[in-house]
Amino acid sequence: MGDGLPGGRAAALVRAAAGGAIDLVLPPACLACDAPVGQTGTLCPDCWGRIAFIGRPCCARCGLPFAIEAAEGAICGACTRAPPVYARARAAFRYEGVGRELILSFKMADRSWLAPRLAGWLHRAAAPLLAEADLVAPVPLHRWRLLARRFNQAAVLAGLVAREVDAALVPDLLARTRRTPPQTRLSGAERRRNVRGAFRVRRGRERLVAGRSVLLVDDVLTTGATANACAQALRKAGAARVDVATLARAVRDPP
Ligand SMILES: [Zn+2]
Ligand SMILES: [Zn+2]
Repeated sequence: MGDGLPGGRAAALVRAAAGGAIDLVLPPACLACDAPVGQTGTLCPDCWGRIAFIGRPCCARCGLPFAIEAAEGAICGACTRAPPVYARARAAFRYEGVGRELILSFKMADRSWLAPRLAGWLHRAAAPLLAEADLVAPVPLHRWRLLARRFNQAAVLAGLVAREVDAALVPDLLARTRRTPPQTRLSGAERRRNVRGAFRVRRGRERLVAGRSVLLVDDVLTTGATANACAQALRKAGAARVDVATLARAVRDPP
């Protein structure tokens, strides 16, 4: 961040960097829409109404929210049919409405100041997973995409949540073995094919993984294909367990 910021964003960046002191000059703005709010680092009432946080009950494995009451430990149909490679995935909110807008603007490097607030929500959603993690690692971006985007938002989030718990951050634990086309327009089966074998534990990092609990951090869980491909690589290297924490989660058909 830093160069070429449009005026409004530059002001917001200054506001975020300076914290409370500068609120006297620049009134705090909503994280999503820049409307005035009472306090820095929050959403306006309208945006609060359009962000869908995920709570209980949810699938014990993939974190899919259940629309009806379910017993603790209940598992969704998809996870029953095809159990994921990872142990548990949890997300802070649904990938829709304001949640989606926040993630898309966070991906633009000039809104990286959203990171601490987003990491706070991620931490809350994945607290039990974080508590049991030995290592925290981001899902890696391919270096070409990293260059285009200037920063890996998953790595930023992983760094912030690892700082809150007694887990070691290993930013370069995983590497991409090849460049994969963006998953956005692919079906579930295509996504699985697209990322199969696309990740490996980076050479020299295997000894860190053996017998350890790893928490993978990413921005969005869609079909879980990427999370599974990463978990596969980590399990192959001897990880005792792989959990996944994402900011958002796609929810297609609420059960
Ligand atoms: Zn707003
Ligand atoms: Zn599930």
